[in-house]
Parts: sequence; structure tokens; C-alpha cells
Amino acid sequence: MLEGKIVKAAGGFFTVRNRQGEDFVCRARGMLKRGSSDLMVGDRVVFEPAPVHPGSDGGDGIIEKLLPRSNQLYRPPVANVDQLIIVMAIKEPECDWQLVSRMLVLAEKENLKINISLNKADLAGSGQIASLKEKLNPFPYPFFFTSAREETGIEHLRKILNENCSVFAGPSGVGKSSLLNALQPGLALQTGLVSDKIKRGKHTTRQAELLALKSGGSVVDTPGFTRLEFSDIKPAELSFYFPEFQPLLGQCSFRDCAHLSEPGCAVLSEVGASVNPMRYEHYKYFSEELSRQEGY
Ligand code: GDP
Ligand code: ZN
Repeated sequence: MLEGKIVKAAGGFFTVRNRQGEDFVCRARGMLKRGSSDLMVGDRVVFEPAPVHPGSDGGDGIIEKLLPRSNQLYRPPVANVDQLIIVMAIKEPECDWQLVSRMLVLAEKENLKINISLNKADLAGSGQIASLKEKLNPFPYPFFFTSAREETGIEHLRKILNENCSVFAGPSGVGKSSLLNALQPGLALQTGLVSDKIKRGKHTTRQAELLALKSGGSVVDTPGFTRLEFSDIKPAELSFYFPEFQPLLGQCSFRDCAHLSEPGCAVLSEVGASVNPMRYEHYKYFSEELSRQEGY
């Protein structure tokens, strides 16, 4: 028996990669095909590297067991994703910080490590970069500047991706496929990022695939977090997905403080200090949105 990771799934066959990087095209044992334990890309599995039926073209092996998942994304369906790389352009299109916070909340819920790439740095003057840094002081997540065009910041991105399984997210046109190509020439061509554009909205369901980077780590070939509804977050849960609030929780005068306008709120008193005012505005906005959803 060997252990490996499913990197591709198509037509009932699963490509399983072992630690040495060898691929085995496998079928799944019958009981694994049913119910909630449906195998997905990213799953760690135990497999027997032997022909399914001697003499048939059943593949190189059979998957015997699914190992526990650390998490599971639904769009695209991928298991065991370690990290989210949010890509935003500094301009063209203008950076949408509320959208960033929205993706951050959803990523916190999935327990993902997070990094933010601020791309198209070549279009910004030094003054604009400086004022952006000021706007993001403080900011509770690591961010860095990249230019896919001038290939700056790519080495840093490569280091961040090393040893992780990462998913990219961000609006169309910010440079996600350009960054992938800067990382490894030709990489974007293998992705849904490009083929979806070519398909122009044809509704073909395509399975996600994990692409191995020569420099280490892998990336999901389909952008994540394309659906941005807070479908199963309770209003009272929201503050737990703002890491900068964590040291303050429990210090408010009211135990059930919603950090909106309550007297003696520890979060409110830190706005402009350890809590970035822009992030606090996003919290308020999302909080109202969640309350409306709950039907208050
Ligand atoms: P995606 O939709 O996020 O995959 O974005 P693309 O990679 O397709 O890039 C969208 C457009 O932005 C293309 O015309 C790219 O050439 C351009 N672009 C991407 N990265 C950069 C960059 O760092 N600087 C500049 N100036 N343009 C870029
Ligand atoms: Zn409070």
C-alpha cells in the first residue's frame, strides 16, 4: 500500500501522486464512490499500486482508503488546501478592499493561511505605493507588491507557494494568470483561468486539478472564492473571523457585545489604533448584511 494525493479526477479515474512525484492512474474501491466521502482532488489516499483487473486497462492501481481532510472547498471542489493567495491590482481594475475583506472572512472560516498579492505595481507611482502602505497600516494579513509584467515580487511569491497547496482568488483582469506564467512559463495555459476565458461562459463543469510547481508546492488550476455569499455564518460568529479583534474579545463591557455602538466596547476603542478603520467599516457592513439575512 502507498500513500498519495489525488491531483486529477476524470471519468471515474483518479491520478494519484506519491511523495516521489510519480503518478498512478487509479480506480476507487466501490465503497469509496458513494455518499459524503466522494473522492475529490486534493484528497490524501491510501492506494494499492496494482492493475485493477489483471489483463485489463483498469489503471495503475486502486484507491483503498480516504485519509481525513483538513478542509474542503466547494468552488472549486478541492480538499486539503493550505493557503489562499488573494490577487488584487493596485489599479486597472482599482483594488476593491471590501471584496478583499469578504474573501478573508470566508478564508478564515476554512482555516486557510492567507497572503495578498498587490499586482500591477508597475502602474503605480511611488507616491501611490506609499499611500497604500499607509492605508494598510495596520493590516492583519501579509501583503506584498508584484508586477507580472516586470516580474517583480515573483521570487517572494514562489517562496510563499513552496511546500503548500495554494488556491488563487481575485476578480477577473487583476493578473492571476499572468502571475502564474511569471512563476513558470506556460503554467497559465494549463489552467481554468485561461480556458474559461476562451470558452466565454459556456457552462462546462470542469474538475479542478493540482498543478505542481517546479520550485515546490502546487496550485489549484481554478480560481477559488468565486461565490462570495456568507451563507452559513451567524452574525455572532463574524467577529471571530477578524483576527485583529481577537485580543480584544472578552474585554467589552457587555458580554454579548456586537462591537457596533455599545458603550465600553473594546473593539470600538481600538479603531484607528490596532484596528484599521477600513477593516472596521467592513465588519460593520458585513454585520448588517448577516443580520438582514437572519431576518431581523
Ligand atoms: P486574470 O483575469 O486575473 O487572470 O488576469 P490576466 O493575467 O489575464 O491579466 C489581465 C490583464 O492585465 C492582461 O492584459 C495582462 O497583460 C495585464 N497584466 C497582468 N499583470 C500585470 C502587471 O503586473 N502589470 C501590468 N501593467 N499589467 C498586467
Ligand atoms: Zn465590543
